Amino acid sequence: MHYNASGLLSDRAGASREFTIDNETISIEDDRFTNVCGHVELLKTGRGILVQAEVTASTIEECSRCLKETNFELNIEFEEEFHPVNKFPGLVEIEDDESQFPLDFDYGVDENNTIDFKESFRQAFVSEIPIAPLCKPDCKGLCAKCSIDLNIEYCDCVEIEELPQWAQSLKSLEIN
Ligand SMILES: [Zn+2]
Ligand SMILES: [Zn+2]
Repeated sequence: MHYNASGLLSDRAGASREFTIDNETISIEDDRFTNVCGHVELLKTGRGILVQAEVTASTIEECSRCLKETNFELNIEFEEEFHPVNKFPGLVEIEDDESQFPLDFDYGVDENNTIDFKESFRQAFVSEIPIAPLCKPDCKGLCAKCSIDLNIEYCDCVEIEELPQWAQSLKSLEIN
């Protein structure tokens, strides 16, 4: 997922390149995205390279209700302008204080004129992970009292709690 942009940066504004990503892996710190596939388009602008990409990946997350490890398919549409560290003829230099185009390392073309997409795509994929992931939309979760997985087993705890107070007392009497 490294792209050498020397050729494109030396080309005229409006020139473009493209490449595909086929079944790669992004593994940085605790984040692991597998089966990364997609299509990347690079367009030379007056300031750098506009990258547009559509990329998919798989990741394993714990279900927020039953804690089962579950595979999630993620899909990003990425668009960001990358600015080179090196000077190229015809490129407008960007001032550090132009806040709308921060010289963010993640969106830079490094001193070897290479773009590393792994960190950029990682951040985009992370933002696509649901805040409360579910193994299935109607996951019943774990019983708060006995911790049984209610998708697989059944316990009386919930039933008792859902009953009105008078019935709960009656039910406890039955059990005892
Ligand atoms: Zn679940
Ligand atoms: Zn229970």
